[in-house]
Amino acid sequence: MRVFKFGGASVKDANGVRNVARVLQEVGYKDVFLVVSAMGKMTNAFEKLIQAYFYNTETFSVHVDKIRAYHYEIINDLFSVDHDAIINQVEGLFTEMTQFMIKNESRDYNFVYDQIVSYAELFSTKIVSAYLNDIGISNDWLDVRNCIATNSDFRDATVNWDRTKQYIRDYVNDENLQITQGFIGRDAHLNTTTLGREGSDYTAAIFAYCLNAADVTIWKDVDGVLNADPRHFEETTLLVRISYTEAIELAFYGASVIHPKTLQPLQKKDIPLYVKSFLNLQAKGTKVSKGEAISPEVPCFIVKNNQILLSISSLDFSFIVERNISEIFNLIHEQRMKVNLIQNSAISFSVCLEDKYENFDKLLVSLESRFKIDFHKGVALHTIRHFTAESIDRIEQTNKVLLKQLTQETVQIVIE
Ligand code: ADP
Ligand code: ASP
Ligand code: MG
Repeated sequence: MRVFKFGGASVKDANGVRNVARVLQEVGYKDVFLVVSAMGKMTNAFEKLIQAYFYNTETFSVHVDKIRAYHYEIINDLFSVDHDAIINQVEGLFTEMTQFMIKNESRDYNFVYDQIVSYAELFSTKIVSAYLNDIGISNDWLDVRNCIATNSDFRDATVNWDRTKQYIRDYVNDENLQITQGFIGRDAHLNTTTLGREGSDYTAAIFAYCLNAADVTIWKDVDGVLNADPRHFEETTLLVRISYTEAIELAFYGASVIHPKTLQPLQKKDIPLYVKSFLNLQAKGTKVSKGEAISPEVPCFIVKNNQILLSISSLDFSFIVERNISEIFNLIHEQRMKVNLIQNSAISFSVCLEDKYENFDKLLVSLESRFKIDFHKGVALHTIRHFTAESIDRIEQTNKVLLKQLTQETVQIVIE
């Protein structure tokens, strides 16, 4: 079996969906298992809807209307003759979603987020599945929540592998093409969960692992994994081959082309990952597999914006030792913040943090009574793998450097 994953960019409009069909027709879809994520930037649109549901109810219907109009435009374009079946399905989902919102009494933002944002994936896969059937690519729609079992850490759920393996064995067959959602799962109480933003790549890897797939292909709007994000760098080089370890490192430091959790399951079973362009089918793309670290060997640039550089020192100039450090980490962990860099000296301890859930103020309150705190918000963390003197100069010459850390393969620089 082969696993294909099409992300939001590939199905951002009706032509995108037609192109997915073209890709399947050209490369073949026998023994393929298909994971498709939400259309375009719909997950962001759903995030706004949830914000409105909690904090800004008067704008709520504007967001619902936008989401509805977006999907309907695609449906109207794709199904020029017979709409009824797909409209009924999409309307059914809309009703289910609004019913949930009316009945819901929970103020747990993360719980509600997962119950709602998951509809973006359901709408998308319903539409793509119906369109493919319509044009003769026979397929079955599968609710991925029957397959991916997780714990109840909403918005960042952890997969229960034993149950997931069992469910995938029960629900996946190779008789017909199956198409399912990325990013979402279900906990033991039958609530919907999500695996973290951009988690559909990970979903593809979970299926590949459980199905012992021959390979995974994630179809992107770029030629493959490049040595820098083309949205921020003018000149980029395609990485033709990289090892799992190199890909894990790049994803870990923030190369957003692959979700960081995707690689481990594939590496465990030696399943190659191809990152290919859905626009340019002739291009070879990137192969991630065992072996050669990186080819061609060029510096790789990764930028994480919107970071917080936090420096902590003791109030009485005593050393920052293990006990303080573990206490600090506990507090950071409690606030669900992510540490992207650590630097320690005798009396101070610096961390570069990502505050996805906007908990920094709470962290400050808990730290300020015990430590002296200094922080810079809105800084950027630049990472260069396989750096050269010239590549470091490029960053240092044009920016104010707040912190720099060098290891053999990697340099990290925090700039204002
Ligand atoms: P998907 O449609 O699967 O969700 P994403 O938008 O998440 O795709 O990922 C593709 C995008 O990742 C590209 O358009 C590109 O801007 C960005 N990107 C960031 N870093 C890299 C990199 N090193 N190589 C290629 N693309 C990258
Ligand atoms: N739709 C989800 C997101 O945008 C998952 C994904 O696309 O991978 O985060
Ligand atoms: Mg994405």
